[in-house]
Amino acid sequence: MKRWINKIGEITIARIDRYLADPRLEPEAQLRKRWAWIWFLVTCVFVLISCVHFFFVVQMWPMWWGGVIFIAGYIVGFPLLKRVKRFDIVINAIFSVYTITAMFMMLHTGGLTTSMGFIFIGMNCAMGSVLAGNLRWSIGMFILYCATIVVVGIFQSSLTTPDYITPRENTISFVGLALWINACILFIVILFMKDKNKYEKAEAEKLRKIDEAKTLLYTNVSHEFRTPLTVIQGIADHMEQNTGYWRQHGPAKIKKQSSILLRLVNQMLNISKLEAGSMRLDLIQGDLRKYVRHLTASFQSLAQKKKIELAFNQKDSPLIADFDKGIVFHAVSNLLSNAIKFTPPGGEVTVSVTDKIINNKQSVVIEVADTGKGIPVELHERIFERFYQVPDEDIQTPGTGLGLSLTRQMVQLIKGEIRLESEPGLGSRFKIILPLSNTAKKADDADILHPEFTIDQFETGIDAHEKSFRINSLKKSSNPILLIVEDNADVVEYLVEVLHEDYTIELANNGMEGLEKAQQIIPDIILSDVMMPKMDGFELLRQLRNDFRTDHIPVMILTARGDYVSKIEGLEIGADQYLVKPFDEKDLKLRLRNLFESRRKMQAKLAATNAHAEIKSAGYRRQLDFIIKINSLLDENLSDEEFGITQVYRALNMSRAQLYRKFSALTNKSLGQHIRSYRLQKAKQMIEFEGKNVTEAALASGFKNLSHFSSAFHEEFSFAPSEISKSGISH
Ligand code: ADP
Repeated sequence: MKRWINKIGEITIARIDRYLADPRLEPEAQLRKRWAWIWFLVTCVFVLISCVHFFFVVQMWPMWWGGVIFIAGYIVGFPLLKRVKRFDIVINAIFSVYTITAMFMMLHTGGLTTSMGFIFIGMNCAMGSVLAGNLRWSIGMFILYCATIVVVGIFQSSLTTPDYITPRENTISFVGLALWINACILFIVILFMKDKNKYEKAEAEKLRKIDEAKTLLYTNVSHEFRTPLTVIQGIADHMEQNTGYWRQHGPAKIKKQSSILLRLVNQMLNISKLEAGSMRLDLIQGDLRKYVRHLTASFQSLAQKKKIELAFNQKDSPLIADFDKGIVFHAVSNLLSNAIKFTPPGGEVTVSVTDKIINNKQSVVIEVADTGKGIPVELHERIFERFYQVPDEDIQTPGTGLGLSLTRQMVQLIKGEIRLESEPGLGSRFKIILPLSNTAKKADDADILHPEFTIDQFETGIDAHEKSFRINSLKKSSNPILLIVEDNADVVEYLVEVLHEDYTIELANNGMEGLEKAQQIIPDIILSDVMMPKMDGFELLRQLRNDFRTDHIPVMILTARGDYVSKIEGLEIGADQYLVKPFDEKDLKLRLRNLFESRRKMQAKLAATNAHAEIKSAGYRRQLDFIIKINSLLDENLSDEEFGITQVYRALNMSRAQLYRKFSALTNKSLGQHIRSYRLQKAKQMIEFEGKNVTEAALASGFKNLSHFSSAFHEEFSFAPSEISKSGISH
């Protein structure tokens, strides 16, 4: 039963809300309007019933004017309440009239005591005024109510009570009105409080979400800031030391990175302006088609670099319209740079500007269509959310996810909308629809085409991997192999420049490629970024640690995310070092050297085969397990002379090169050497402790040729095997 009542209540309230919905009102005002309206309705019903009672039962016809005023108030009030934005004024005005009318009715009925309960009408009105939520007006209403009572009180002694008001009628009406009004007040107050709680909770949730969004904004934005800063800082350091290459190429790179920073700053400013509602429109009237064509042309070189056909699909005829250059620039540039970014080489991007009638309104449609990867329908709304990016992208520069949300907000600011038609695999078509008007100040072509904004900032990352990193010439075979997993080409170039003298450098563009390369070449050390397409740095680390071929490789995480939680996450998964961008070149080199230093210590420990307990406690358990695995394979096949490296790598499911690189990384010895020493150690133990003679021990440890066994034994231990059995001395 209770459930049903609740349900009916909810449905009714939802209907009322729909009926009263006013986009001009804040949610909180909408809520006040709802309850004021319900109060108005309830009192209206009450007044109608009372009129029937007073006129037809009590026969109070001389007071007809009271009924007329009340009913007229409702007839005027309901439509006004729905339409007028300041509904509180409407409510208070009508209730003021009612309070004054009630005063005259009380004077007519002979004063307060014989007022048939009309004394409660003013109270009812004052309560209704509270629901409308305007404090000053409500105080006014209460003062008015008190004043009417005082006035009636003053005239009380000179008033006469009409015949039709008998004491019985007076008492019945008085009690009836009092009960009715009390019930109403109670009912409304309870509902209102309940609703207010709900509203307050929703408000708190909203605040929490805003807070969360802010934190996300700070984290993401600081990430975006750190990467260009790293490059700029690094290049500046190098230029200071007058390195020829950087003197020549540095300034252009610094410029490019600064324009990326500038774009970010502009985006941030635009966000805050939009949020504060202070973004000023600067409308001009001119040839919008020409402006967009000009803008499209400036993306031509970018498209060519990516081997994409970029076309402006239109005749030359002008399309004169009012537009804000800044907004059109940001919107179209964002759509174009996305279209180029998400379209593979050989694809097409087309732009057009047309005038059409849409929803009975003259409109301009700017359309950017591509034949790229497309966007699944369920994400069509989401990509306009701030920071949202379709996951798992095969692109070089992941971007910020700010572009489209800003574009939409800006377009809405000029009363336009943005629509998307897209299907995965087929491409995307973005349409900006703007109302067409011709009222702004006229601007000539020179004004329109004057380049206040440049597209340098959109160059980010697109040509990244066309660059040769001058890597091949830098390889020195004696240096340790360093695998750099980083998607930002400029950061890679800088890292290579800094590290190429000490390391043989291998590169991977994303976590997935990094993992494949790491498994294939078993590098000596890995330097990985965190935020990357396809597979991020943490996942790469996790996979490396779960693969026994790669679990020994020291990994340094290089990230723009300096927050404590990500740092802990990285270290927990097993990163050996964690360095935050922008970093100092010396710091980076020193940390890498330290990693090698600690690896050398590990090698020394692992090479000493009897130091197992110590090794375990030193945190080299994983590494030790690998050697134990090899040793137990050797134990199982000790007497088999043929059992060697080939059999070991097959048994471990590794390639010869992988096994070789991993084993020597762990012990600084070759596996062949290890197998031989291991067999000899075992033979020595057999002679010493198991009472075997030299021949038996040689055969059991895989040496068929006795003289070969003796010479190998001597080489390993510097004495002959026969010496042990003769002297029985343990060496
Ligand atoms: P950003 O490009 O900086 O990541 P945007 O807000 O401009 O941010 O875009 C949000 C996401 O929408 C992109 O990350 C991408 O996944 C998707 N997207 C935008 N434009 C296209 C397009 N033309 N084709 C495919 N996906 C797109």
